[in-house]
This record gives sequence, C-alpha cells and structure tokens, in this order.
Amino acid sequence: ALPTAEEDTIAAIVTGISQGSVAIIRLSGSEAVQMAARVFRPGGKFKFNWGPESHRVYYGTAVDGEENALDEVLLISMLSPRSYTCEDVIELHCHGGGVCAQRVLQACIEAGARPARPGEFTLRAFLNGRLDLTQAENVLQLVQARTPAAADSALAGVRDGVGEAVSTMRLQCLQLLAELEARLDFDEDMPDMDMQRLKQSVASIQQGIEGALRTARQSTLLRQGLQVAIVGRPNVGKSSLLNAWTRTNRAIVTDIAGTTRDVLEAGLVVGGVPVTLLDTAGIRDSSDVVERLGVERSQAAAAQADIVVMVIDAQVGWTQEDTDIFHSLWGNGANTKGCSVKGLSLLVANKQDLVKTEEEKSQVISGHSVEILGIRESSGLNEIERHSDALSHQGTAASGADEVSASIGSPLPVQPVYNIAGGKNSKLEHMNMSSQLRLPLICRETFQEVVFTSATTRQGLEELDAGILALAGAPDLAAGGVSWSVNERQSEALVRAHEGLMRVSESVSQNLPIDFWTIDMRSAIMALGEVTGDEVTEQILDNVFSRFCIGK
Ligand code: GDP
Ligand code: ZN
Repeated sequence: ALPTAEEDTIAAIVTGISQGSVAIIRLSGSEAVQMAARVFRPGGKFKFNWGPESHRVYYGTAVDGEENALDEVLLISMLSPRSYTCEDVIELHCHGGGVCAQRVLQACIEAGARPARPGEFTLRAFLNGRLDLTQAENVLQLVQARTPAAADSALAGVRDGVGEAVSTMRLQCLQLLAELEARLDFDEDMPDMDMQRLKQSVASIQQGIEGALRTARQSTLLRQGLQVAIVGRPNVGKSSLLNAWTRTNRAIVTDIAGTTRDVLEAGLVVGGVPVTLLDTAGIRDSSDVVERLGVERSQAAAAQADIVVMVIDAQVGWTQEDTDIFHSLWGNGANTKGCSVKGLSLLVANKQDLVKTEEEKSQVISGHSVEILGIRESSGLNEIERHSDALSHQGTAASGADEVSASIGSPLPVQPVYNIAGGKNSKLEHMNMSSQLRLPLICRETFQEVVFTSATTRQGLEELDAGILALAGAPDLAAGGVSWSVNERQSEALVRAHEGLMRVSESVSQNLPIDFWTIDMRSAIMALGEVTGDEVTEQILDNVFSRFCIGK
C-alpha cells in the first residue's frame, strides 16, 4: 500500500532566507485556514470575511499570540484541491530579510503548525496524486538547475515528462499480463495467444524504455555538470586560458588553494552544460622537478575530473617536461598502470598566435624532423603502419619506449597529423614524406581531441567548447528546446524493467510455460511503477524527498 499523507498542518518559509524583498510562509493542511486566522488581522478598506475565498489576496497584519504586530503581510488563499499540495494552502507574504519571515513562521508554529520537513510540500503533492514521482523529482531539479538548459529539461519533466511515457508502458504491460493470466485461469475457453503480436508489443515497450534511457546521459550532464582539470607544465598558459575561457578576468571563483588541495576552481557553461574547471595554477618555481610540475596537484585534479585538458605550448612544441607530466598522469601511454586520469583527455596547444606563418611552417615541415603529436583515430598512423614496412620501434634513450621512429618512403594519405611545431594548419595532408618521423606514440591513444588555442587572442575557444562536448558525449543542449531526461533512480528502474521484458521474450521464444512469462512481466510492471511512483516504498520516498530543501 502506498504511504499516505499525514494529516497535520505544516508550515515553512518557502523563499530563500535573508535575501530578497519578499519572504513567503506557506501553511498546508486541513487546519491551514484556522491557523492563519490566529496570526492574520485583515486591514485596509476591504472587509475580510473569514474564511477566505480561494485564490484571493488579502492585505493585513501578522500578529503573535499577544496581538503584537509582527509585519504587514499579504495573505493568499489556495483552497483544496486547487493548490500545490491539493490541501488547503495559505501563504503569507511578508517583508524579506529574514527577521519578519522568522517571526511570522514562529507565530504560525505557536498557532499549531508543524515545521515542514525537506520536500514535504512536494511529497504531499505526490501522495495526493497531483504529481507523479518523476514530476516531483523534476521540481527539485528545476529549483537546483544551474543552467537554462538544465531548467528547460526539468520543466519539461514537470510538465509531461517521463512519467506519462512510463505510465503508458506500464498500462500496456498490465494489459499483456491480463491476457496471459486469463489463459492461465481459463486455458480451455481462450483462443490461443497471438505470439507474433505479443512479441511485437513487448519489443515496442522495450524500444520505449531504450528511448528513455538514452536521455540519461543528458540528464547526468545537466545535473552534475563536468569537472574539467587543466594540467600542463608552467607557463604554457593554463591560467590565461582559464581566464579567456570563462571570459572574465575574475575567472577564479572559488579559491580553495592551500588548505586541502592546491586546485583552483572556476565555473562556466559549455553548450548548456555546467562545467567546473580545476586549474593546477599557482605552481611554484622550484628546482625539484616533481614540485615544479605540480605533479601531485595535477594528479589530484586529474583523478576527480571527467575530462583532463593537457595544455602545451604550440610554439615550443612537445618538450621533455611535457613527457614527464604526461607520464606522471597517464602512466606509460597505452599501459594505464599508474594512471591517475580517470576521465577522457583533450590536448590543447596554446599560444597558437605565436606559431610561425604558413611559409615558415612549410620550412619546418620540409626539413627533416617533424614532431607528430597526435593522430586521430582511423587516420594517419594506421595508414603509416600499414604502408610502411620500415616502421620500427626505436625507443629513444631520453623518454623511453614511447617514441617511434619511422622511415617512410612512400606517399601517405596522412590525414590530420598534428604537428605541434606547425600549429593550427598543420594537417599534413597527402604529403610525400620521405623524411624521418618522430612519433610520440603516447599521445596517439590518449588524446581523443586536439585543439589549438590562443588565450591572448581568444582564438580556438569555440573549438575547445566543441571538443569538450564531443568528448563528454553531450547532445547539443545549447540549441534550446531541451526535453525531459531520466535521472539515475529512474534509469536504474527502467533497466530492470527492460531486463524483465527481455526475459519475457526469451521465455516466449523458448516456449516456456506461461507462468514463467507472467513472473517476469510482473517484475517489469513493478519496476515501471517505481519510476512513476505507482509502486513505491517509504524508503524510495525518503530517498527522493530528503534531497529537497525545506519549504519545497
Ligand atoms: P601557466 O603557468 O600555465 O598558468 O601560464 P600563464 O597563464 O601564467 O601564462 C604564462 C605566460 O604566457 C604569460 O606571460 C601569459 O601572458 C602568456 N600566454 C599565455 N597564453 C598565451 C597565448 O595564447 N599567447 C601568447 N602570446 N601568450 C600567452
Ligand atoms: Zn598559471
């Protein structure tokens, strides 16, 4: 049985505390009107006929038990069932700033109201059938949204959302279950089950579930955002890039340096996704390599990041120090042992504005040694490996086995090969390279995206945005019209529903007795019911509503 709403009348300040010019106290419950009558004295020229009409505004004074005036207030009545909670709701709008609201709330409590628990208004709205559980969860998401895209998605979830879609699927399952059970009970009298139709129905419900599950990524991105760590040796322009990227000179919003970890954080929004930048800036000059490179700080930042952005100097190219940093974070290239980077990796070649002109570059390229830093998947390197028998692994003494020298004598369809010395337009396309290539293989698999930027001219920042979003697998959320998405709790239940249906179709295929099918069908129905809240336990409700703030 579903938990039912408690009978008592609750009260809370529903606006942000000590901010704003207006604060609102909300009373909800069967005695809201009587309690309001104890704290509210109508004023002005309008006669106040107690009790109030629904959906009207009354002006007056809030008083305490001794009739002392506490504040001038507006009373708004929303009587059952036309209120947020479906119960009688009275709101008292008083002056903001905290004190007035606290005093009026106190008066309400002395008049018999109980302080509301976190999310209790919304819980009542759910228990009284005004919202399904997914809508209630989206109310919370709406309040907590950090970007317009997140708010759009939450609003879509409050309005029609996943609940409606899942309810429909659940009804379809219930229908199928009824047909199956009818055959269990009255086997002889019933026509044979149309297997083809049953299978089709199950498959189409499964597709619906899969569709809903596909929104989970968007949901996670919008709700949790992305943690992006910026690492790199000193002076490559990490801080400048961070500043340029956040498009403000005061990019560093939260300075947590010193005490716990020497990582600075900044917030920005990339394509609708809230991004927290973790900068390993402020690395001191030191003769100690480990300290100079801020290895430990970088490791800490990298370990908690979804995406690690390694910045190098486009003008200088890849250096031994870069290799050192690389090893300290990514381990030995393909070998992920000792790797502190948990997420995805993007390489930024900054100071692009200092890179030589086209002409100067071509001289570098037609010279002998071309440093190739990264090669996109299915491009040059594979081709090189396939085309060249001469490819040989010759680890260089300095940096270990992560560099390969290859002598290539044939024309190569080399696609985007990133030549750091060359910078932006360094895709060496269809070149006849009979020169020696030095390939830091370490970068080959590590950096899924390579972007050239200039913190000074702000060039390449859009590419950086695009690179981050591509890595994160983010749909284009900035485009607007973001639709609902399923949260973790809903996904988890949807996955169980999907598994149940999977077993149903297996049982059908294997011609197992109908009892088997009904068991799995029931578990799918149960899981779908958990999503919408049609089947829900106290524990699930506690879990959902404890995340709310008081007054929501
Ligand atoms: P960090 O130590 O990696 O954080 O590097 P900083 O952001 O402190 O930059 C080091 C120096 O490089 C500063 O003098 C910056 O002005 C300069 N710098 C950073 N980015 C660029 C860039 O894109 N172009 C140019 N020309 N200079 C840059
Ligand atoms: Zn810096």
